[in-house]
Amino acid sequence: MKPRFSVVAPIYNEESLVEEFYRRVHAVMESLGEPWELVLVDDGSHDRSPDLLDQLHAQDPEHVVVLHFARNFGHQLAITAGMDYARGDAVIVIDADLQDPPEVIADLIAKWREGYEVVYAVRAEREGETWFKLFTANLFYRLIQILTDVTIPLEAGDFRLLDRRVIEVLRQMRESHRFVRGMVPWIGFRQTGVPYKRFARTAGESKYPFHKMFRLALDAVTGFSLLPLKLATWLGTVAVLAGLILALILLSFRLNGSAPLAGQGLTASLVLFVGGIQLWIAGILGEYLGRIYDEVRHRPLYIVREIKRQENQLTN
Ligand code: UDP
Ligand code: MG
Repeated sequence: MKPRFSVVAPIYNEESLVEEFYRRVHAVMESLGEPWELVLVDDGSHDRSPDLLDQLHAQDPEHVVVLHFARNFGHQLAITAGMDYARGDAVIVIDADLQDPPEVIADLIAKWREGYEVVYAVRAEREGETWFKLFTANLFYRLIQILTDVTIPLEAGDFRLLDRRVIEVLRQMRESHRFVRGMVPWIGFRQTGVPYKRFARTAGESKYPFHKMFRLALDAVTGFSLLPLKLATWLGTVAVLAGLILALILLSFRLNGSAPLAGQGLTASLVLFVGGIQLWIAGILGEYLGRIYDEVRHRPLYIVREIKRQENQLTN
């Protein structure tokens, strides 16, 4: 039977909590009284998670769909695959680490029934996260707010419900550097939020170390803003003006018969300053160019090694 609801969760080395996660999702979804499926995307885990997922599928083939990636492709691609394979009229994306309580899914669905196509779960409270994580997350969202052209709801992560129509649009957006949190508001439709409390991880540790967050931030900015590229023009203008003013000052001193500010120190600092700006701009160009290169290659976004699904149908 075609499921009415699909719950999509990315799994990367979560052996300590997949079973608990399944139990809680199962309880919530059964209470809604409509057919549902749980699409678990194993993002190349190298602990016992793949086996545990297969076991869940064997136990409950009616509900549990498992995708095994050929290697680790990252959170954003894992949820992309999950959304591609989900068949429900409403698709709920949720982290498997139980920081996002599955019980909130019922609230998201209630809003969807009111007619919203996108329902965000908005963190009203966060528990058990380091000040560093909170600080960087905050900085990240502010930066995105300033730099990008889409309005990304603050404190909304990837925990959200998407209507089938939105899923179909997302399936047409095949960009490889994906910042799904920006793509969804970009699409439009009627969007709303539901507040919830984000808990501490029940087990395991964060799979989002600083370098992954930094990558995600870069993808977010380059994916939704051309401002850094335009920075070259601004910085170039500033450098040229500064150079002109300095030349005028030096000239007026020379006309007065004195010559302060001269010498190698000044030259060296100017060269470093201008050279630094140029390298910086070259770096920004490189970030965009590299992404353009990735796009023109048209590689598949992710590679599925195996699918465990009841009907055994391999494509969607
Ligand atoms: N995750 C993934 N691939 C990765 C990193 C994380 O599928 O490369 C999954 C992870 O298993 C979890 C979710 O993405 O279900 C969120 O990751 P995590 O809780 O580590 O991120 P945080 O909450 O610390 O931002
Ligand atoms: Mg987490």
